Amino acid sequence: MLSRRTITGYRTLHRIATVLYTLHTLTLATEPTRGKSTGTTAVTTAEVDIGKLQRALLKWYDKHRRDLPWRVTGRTKPDPYRVLVSEFMLQQTQVATVVEYFERFIRRCATVESLAEVEEQEVLRLWQGLGYYRRARNLWRAAKQIVDQHGGWVPDTVEELMQLPGVGRYTAGAVASIAYGKRAPLLDGNVARVLARVCGIDQPIDAGMTKTMLWGLAERLADTSRPGDVNQAVMELGALVCVPRSPGCDRCPLSGLCVAKARGEAQRLPVRQPRKEPRSVTHHVLALERDGKYLFEQRPDTGMWSGMWQMPTAQGLATSTKPGGLQRWATKQLGVRVLPPHRVGWFVHQTTHRTIRFELWATSVQSGRLRRGAGSWRRLDRLDDLPLANPQRRAVMMLM
Ligand code: SF4
Repeated sequence: MLSRRTITGYRTLHRIATVLYTLHTLTLATEPTRGKSTGTTAVTTAEVDIGKLQRALLKWYDKHRRDLPWRVTGRTKPDPYRVLVSEFMLQQTQVATVVEYFERFIRRCATVESLAEVEEQEVLRLWQGLGYYRRARNLWRAAKQIVDQHGGWVPDTVEELMQLPGVGRYTAGAVASIAYGKRAPLLDGNVARVLARVCGIDQPIDAGMTKTMLWGLAERLADTSRPGDVNQAVMELGALVCVPRSPGCDRCPLSGLCVAKARGEAQRLPVRQPRKEPRSVTHHVLALERDGKYLFEQRPDTGMWSGMWQMPTAQGLATSTKPGGLQRWATKQLGVRVLPPHRVGWFVHQTTHRTIRFELWATSVQSGRLRRGAGSWRRLDRLDDLPLANPQRRAVMMLM
């Protein structure tokens, strides 16, 4: 039996070993490495001329920045609420898609108070089609928290911002720097790609230690009199020029500083850790009809598409499930007997971690009473107020 003291000693040794390993790896990651093809070298993150990088980015940004509805020009100050909304929407979604949703959202909820006052279902409806609906619910909760705890003022420090639901280090850094001019760093996929290429970083950018290194670099980058602009500049460059597949090095303001370009490795970098294959699953959607109306139910508060509406959907059944299996499932879940369903069709919906095959079946009630709270009957042409996730909307279209 090991004594507590011995265990503590082992833990200390383990911590020291971890720190030494981290330092060793960071050194490897940042030491000049001989370029295989061109003989040029990578730079250490400490060697990066941050001043040059900032100047080149800002000069380019002043000329090429996109005119976006949450951005302001000249001396006008950005509205922190609009910046917060845009940053929630931009988590996992591209600018081009976000613009239309942002404008619609702001027309309905122009202030943080108005957002805090609307029903959650209304927020989900405004978010409909944008995906990742947890963001919508978190934004709504964040608005309530801002009103309740901050008197309606969006906090201006990273620490306070990170206390809001759904606000991580990236979003906090974006809001603090863009809305308030705080020297707060941010790191998203675009920023990581640009920095990894500029520095010629060979380690997977999604590995913990590389992320630490990139955050350190982002912190130095934001240390300027225009932190919000420099942060937006590097994101913008990643979105428009230093794109994943065919980076536009010939029109890039950083081409003279970029190790990946010098080594001819812009296409290869950055590298990532191998990803797990998406899991294949099947969802059987039951279009249950009664008097020209269909049954819709709300999804649970947690998990995928939380709080959104759907036609009753069986998630645990095999792909090869027959009508009889669905009839039994319907009786158990909904409390009614249904006629043998017929198959309407199928489609595939891809998410980051899952390949979901949706099988659509149509049937009607044979007998029995619907279980209390099982859902509500709706006409398919009267669904505007019901937030439906994209695959459910697609299933509805197949019925019309
Ligand atoms: S030179 Fe090419 S690889 Fe380097 S930052 Fe610019 S676009 Fe990206």
